[in-house]
Amino acid sequence: MISIQQLKREESLKDHCGVFGIYARNLNVAKITYLALHSLQHRGQESAGITVSDGWKLRGIRQLGLVTSVFNEGNLSKLKGFISVGHNRYSTTGGNTIENVQPVIIPGNGDFFAVSHNGNLVNAADLAKRLNGVKRVTTSDTEILALIIKFTEGKTWEEKILKATPDFAGAYSIVACSKDRLFAFRDPWGFRPLVLGKLKGNIVVASETCALDTIGATYIRDVLPGEIISIGDKNFRSVGIIGKKLMKFCLFEYVYLARPDSILNNVLVHQVRQKSGELLAKEAPVKGDLVVAVPDSGTSAALGFSQASGIPFGEVLIKNRYIGRTFIAPEQALREHSVKMKFNPMKQIANGKKIVIVDDSIVRGTTMKKIVEILRKSGAKEIHLRICSPPIRWPCFFGVDTPERRQLIASSKTVAQIKKFINADSLYYLSLDGLIKASKQPTDKLCTACFSGKYPMPVNLNFKKNVFENNC
Ligand code: SF4
Repeated sequence: MISIQQLKREESLKDHCGVFGIYARNLNVAKITYLALHSLQHRGQESAGITVSDGWKLRGIRQLGLVTSVFNEGNLSKLKGFISVGHNRYSTTGGNTIENVQPVIIPGNGDFFAVSHNGNLVNAADLAKRLNGVKRVTTSDTEILALIIKFTEGKTWEEKILKATPDFAGAYSIVACSKDRLFAFRDPWGFRPLVLGKLKGNIVVASETCALDTIGATYIRDVLPGEIISIGDKNFRSVGIIGKKLMKFCLFEYVYLARPDSILNNVLVHQVRQKSGELLAKEAPVKGDLVVAVPDSGTSAALGFSQASGIPFGEVLIKNRYIGRTFIAPEQALREHSVKMKFNPMKQIANGKKIVIVDDSIVRGTTMKKIVEILRKSGAKEIHLRICSPPIRWPCFFGVDTPERRQLIASSKTVAQIKKFINADSLYYLSLDGLIKASKQPTDKLCTACFSGKYPMPVNLNFKKNVFENNC
């Protein structure tokens, strides 16, 4: 039996985390963090947190739920200080519990270390063995890495981070703070984005440039893969870079994860998606009356497909934008309407048409099957699917929650079998070469593992996100 929450997640590798940090003595840092987190909500919808330092004391709010439900004028006004670190979470290691809400805070020796992490360590279990006897209060890998940093030798947090991070394997784009410094550091593979910006002379750090735009900050540059940055009052310095030349940026950020108005590695995400649609129209042409997107993720690609094919773009599926993760699953009798509660078709437009549906990806295939069914019931004459990324055959271990491999429809079915399962008249995926071309990134600087199975480092294919659940 399928719930709305499952339906929301199943057609894409949707979620991971968003991070933000600011050091500013002349601004309301908590409120700015709130606004930035709001613009990064797409990166994680399970929980949100903000931690603020006034140089002496740490104050924070961490709750399960969306940014708008966790924070309000009243609780934000209590977060006084000049350094703020924020986080939106979707869990990849450790369940969705209040203990695991970030920033994770590690106290010690008159100071503290508050950590917001986007990513996932593949060697967290090995690192945890080094913490024998150390009390842990979460089941996430973030606490493990923060504790390892704390217990690493060094006079300053900067020294500790520099010495500890070479032992971390996997994805981490991190914003952290001590009582008087803000830090930003990124794994040497640079899986997840992390950018520096300037706001009224102050330095901010965010997962994506869309957060900088929202708060009125200007982009300075990316935090480089492997780079550790220390931020103070209106200045920052690069403390060092570890593991140079390993870069493997996540190709799926361009496909789905990032917002279309963000710039990743100097390329606007919307343009990558549009180009992927154009290339797919050339790789897999089709005769149709209307190109439609599965809103909102497929919209940029559908526009590109429409322009390259000459088939007009139109709307058929109207999305209910107000179905959140906490939506109560309908009773048995209403369950068959689950997809319709998310996508309602306009029958008058679909009726009698040859429809080309463009979407970013297919994970399990069940939602797409239902969308096709809805459109057929609406009178569509033919339904052709065009997917603007290659088949997802392998799980991600670098900060994106994917189902087990056997649940990925393309891991066990051919494209022809998927077409049959979904009941489409035709189905084509964009080639990996096509997607890489659309991204404008050098092939050797990208992680393509969920499409190609070529992981940039050894991974445990039996990994489970609750690995530390009985272990702390
Ligand atoms: S496997 Fe690689 S490309 Fe796929 S989602 Fe994970 S990091 Fe991105």
